[in-house]
Amino acid sequence: MSGHARFSPSSAHRRLNCPPSLVLEEQFEDEESHYAAEGSAGHALAEHLIKKHLKQRSRRPVSNYYSDELLEAVDEYVSYVIGEIEEAKRICNNPIFFVEQRVDASEYVDECFGTADMVIITEKVAHIIDLKLGKGVPVSVEKNPQLMIYGLGILSIAELLYDIETVRLTIVQPRLNSLNTWDISIEELKVWGETVLKQAGEKALAGNGDFKAGSWCRFCKARNKCRARSDEFLQLAKMEFREPALLSDEEIAEVLKVSDELAKWSSDVYTFAQDQAIVHGKQWNGFKLVEGRSNRKYTSEKELAQAAIAAGFTDIYKRSLVTITELERLMGKKEFAKVLGHLVYKPQGKITLVPNNDKREAITKTTAEAEFQEDSL
Ligand code: SF4
Repeated sequence: MSGHARFSPSSAHRRLNCPPSLVLEEQFEDEESHYAAEGSAGHALAEHLIKKHLKQRSRRPVSNYYSDELLEAVDEYVSYVIGEIEEAKRICNNPIFFVEQRVDASEYVDECFGTADMVIITEKVAHIIDLKLGKGVPVSVEKNPQLMIYGLGILSIAELLYDIETVRLTIVQPRLNSLNTWDISIEELKVWGETVLKQAGEKALAGNGDFKAGSWCRFCKARNKCRARSDEFLQLAKMEFREPALLSDEEIAEVLKVSDELAKWSSDVYTFAQDQAIVHGKQWNGFKLVEGRSNRKYTSEKELAQAAIAAGFTDIYKRSLVTITELERLMGKKEFAKVLGHLVYKPQGKITLVPNNDKREAITKTTAEAEFQEDSL
């Protein structure tokens, strides 16, 4: 088995919706973003902490990415996993635990394998837990192809040990306060593997099928130059915009549906073009490189303070409280809640228009109006 899966479970959502993206992406270099590197550091720490709990050998990883905020997010995930481990021990005499387990679904699609963050196997249930450290949008676990592939992969091990009936899939997104679990019977999962996954996998590996743009384009390496994605958005430009008041409600709803993706797409294309110009000297018709605006900075804070004090200006420092996260870490969660809990509150979030499939509860028109008025006072 090579180290690189051509059909990786983490790209499955994209491959299922746009099968030829696999071959198209192969002409682009791999991208290593700051977010991905930070995510890997977070996963390595979670793996270490869980292994420590399981009394397995592990060395604490070191990384420059370990901020208080990341450590807190990892802690939250690890606490949930430990709770599930202890529950498994309570209900099953011999539960099996795998941390960062390689899972292979090449029985369904050639070169399809990946790594499941946490697997807990008890007599009837194989539970796969996935940590996502992104700060973007909550990822739905229901019918999530990445986790369903992990489920198919883990069944080949779990069924040798127990009479598994259910595959339980959980996605934990601590930075979004989101934890979702979904159960699927092994029969249903295998039918999905044989029909949906196998078919899409064959098409994807051969570069066949139709290009189709959608939310899954965000992590596609072809996203900046893909014609299908561009065509999808340029359809909008064909709508006849005159005065906004002349748009029908249906037209406005159409624009709203794609506005988020549209903004992301134009920003992707802009970032790509700017990078080409700065790094590779590419000239774009009608555009030039200029220096951006910048703010004044002290050359040396120490020297500046000395000079200001020498000139008689002593009131030059300000004190501010450390953040809630820092204080909570300093005191520990329990102590913080006991001593300061009553002095902390969570303000209401800014009212936002979102699609109906967003998981947050809708607020009523009256409430929204009242809050808008209060905000504008
Ligand atoms: S950008 Fe979107 S439409 Fe284009 S290949 Fe990638 S996934 Fe398919």
